[in-house]
Amino acid sequence: MGDAASASAPTTPKHSFPYFEDGNIVISASTSKRRCKVFRVHKSVLAFHSHVFADMFTLPTLPDNTTMEMYDGVPLVHLPDPAEEVAELFTLLYKPSALRYDRRDPCLPLDLEPLLTLCRKYGLDDLLARLLHEFESAWPQTLTQWDALEAEIALEVEAYKEGRDDSQVYVDRRYPEPIAAIQLAREFEIDTIPPVAFYHLSRLEIDLDYDVIHGYDDTTSQRQWDKLFMGLRSARWGALSAADFRLVLRGRERLSRLHQNLIHEFFRKSNFSSCPGENCCVSTSIEFMAIAERLSAEKCNDLLQFMKVSFMAPEMEKRGFCHNCALKAQNIIGWWRETLWDNLGKVFIEEQIDEYGFWS
Ligand SMILES: [Zn+2]
Repeated sequence: MGDAASASAPTTPKHSFPYFEDGNIVISASTSKRRCKVFRVHKSVLAFHSHVFADMFTLPTLPDNTTMEMYDGVPLVHLPDPAEEVAELFTLLYKPSALRYDRRDPCLPLDLEPLLTLCRKYGLDDLLARLLHEFESAWPQTLTQWDALEAEIALEVEAYKEGRDDSQVYVDRRYPEPIAAIQLAREFEIDTIPPVAFYHLSRLEIDLDYDVIHGYDDTTSQRQWDKLFMGLRSARWGALSAADFRLVLRGRERLSRLHQNLIHEFFRKSNFSSCPGENCCVSTSIEFMAIAERLSAEKCNDLLQFMKVSFMAPEMEKRGFCHNCALKAQNIIGWWRETLWDNLGKVFIEEQIDEYGFWS
């Protein structure tokens, strides 16, 4: 009974890859359209990857009055899981090169979730760890990685806007989407993703919902397309829980207060009155403080970016600071950027944080 036969007779089990003639067990599962698929595999291979299958195959034989169901001459076991997912799982076991996921695909968390759940259910620990690593590696783990990714995205946005990009794919569709990532990370206890994904989410406009603008309904306005064209990013806002929405709003407010504290704390800490230069930097700093406050009012949705752009030494020297003071300021801000990065989890997830002592 081959593929052609089963296509015309939906109730006949359809042989699916892997189906090896020398397999010593047949696994069956039903598709979402209630069709039965069968896989002929090797107990040893399943047991090697999965302690759950290993235990299943070492169970005592059935009592005498029960006959084990057979298929094609070997024992048949029916799994309650969707056949599409079972097929994907067995394909990965027998053909690891089929493991081709784009780790940055915004749909990756949704695509991986059923497979990860199956791996966990059947104790395929190695495969589970490998898939989770793939998922986790799409998100920066360090501030250096974050800066590198931001720079890469900025270049792609520029190329797209200038028509130098042949892919015709919005930059938004090439990088991870935070809400699905947060949800999957929670489910599989990947602690490194939520802090950075929440931070990214806190920068985004609720106007751009991934599922709406990249979905099949036609409600997206020209204004929204324009935003995508300019490189703005979207999120699956419609899938965000009320509890997580609260975390986003609270995190945004905290970042905004940290932003305000930062400027005052920076001028206190920088101690420009001890400037060794001939033209003391104190008067420059008073002027600069006003500029910094204006800039922070304009760009208050991305504190890491604000700190990076506004307080770099060359930028400060352009504004009239001496080389020594500019370098000192850059060091302080560099240190504070690391502090903020290391504490993103607290900013978004912890009930209480010390906003006043944050920069000290
Ligand atoms: Zn100076």
